[in-house]
Amino acid sequence: MNLPFLHTPERAAFRDHMETKAAHWLRQWDGVEQLAAAMIGVPLSKSSISVSGASATPAAVRAALKSFTTYSLDYQVDVSDLVVRDLGDIAMHVTDILQCHARIEETMSGIYQQMPTIVPFLIGGDHSITAPSVRAFQKHHGKIGIIHFDAHHDVRNLEDGGPSNGTPFRQLLDAGVIDGRNLVQIGIRGFMNARNYDQYVREQGVTVFSARDVRRQGIQQVMQQALHAAGQGTDALYVSFDVDVMDQAYAPGCPAIGTGGMDPWDAMDALYMLGGLPRVKAIDFVCIDPTQDIRNVTSRLAVQLMLTFFAGMINKKE
Ligand code: CA
Repeated sequence: MNLPFLHTPERAAFRDHMETKAAHWLRQWDGVEQLAAAMIGVPLSKSSISVSGASATPAAVRAALKSFTTYSLDYQVDVSDLVVRDLGDIAMHVTDILQCHARIEETMSGIYQQMPTIVPFLIGGDHSITAPSVRAFQKHHGKIGIIHFDAHHDVRNLEDGGPSNGTPFRQLLDAGVIDGRNLVQIGIRGFMNARNYDQYVREQGVTVFSARDVRRQGIQQVMQQALHAAGQGTDALYVSFDVDVMDQAYAPGCPAIGTGGMDPWDAMDALYMLGGLPRVKAIDFVCIDPTQDIRNVTSRLAVQLMLTFFAGMINKKE
């Protein structure tokens, strides 16, 4: 039979050979391949202070992958040269947030044990997932630094509401998982944070670059200083990227939208740079709410940024 317009597997394979889609490349892991990096969904949003559908983000990001190719003309790389697969989602407990966090920590510890050199790319979920993820990271890597992009400090006290998405860095600092001098916060915004939390991070020795600093100093200069602070005396770096660090014009699907945020060019430059550093060994993206988004704009932005990080990994400078 000659049915040239049917989408047979052979025809699909040929099409993919001509133009690889990110969704085809970043496919489900077969449980055997050796991976350079892996996407892991962490669909938790019950711990968000504001109402959030962040649990829908891993699925929204997977859907957005279909809109991208694997080739970057900016960096002259094809990220499909890197073996990155989708490990699926960590199953969340239906009602118990502490149980959810325990599952994240246990799962990430297990991944590090079985694949010691892997660079996990976690897709939240709200920002509360970062605390258990970093605890597992620190146990595996030793003394660590964190580059944290966010509109907010995320150092609320736990007494008022437990380990919500407003607390991950408070948890990590108070427990000594990270030394404040190795935590760098980039993109923090005015009128979105309380004075006492700003004072808390400065007392802890945290380096803070506001969104205004990024605009005035330029992202390259900010990143150089950030890497210096986070890297001092540490063995590995963790990147935590709250998508609400972006201006609301670019990321309308975040629960905490606001103006005066970072633009995609600065974010892409920063993530390309971070992807290219061998000491950056894990990254998370958090706090997108696809249920509030417009045409999946915010998850698409996340995919563009994720692919840019992987482009950096390909051009890694040893
Ligand atoms: Ca946050």
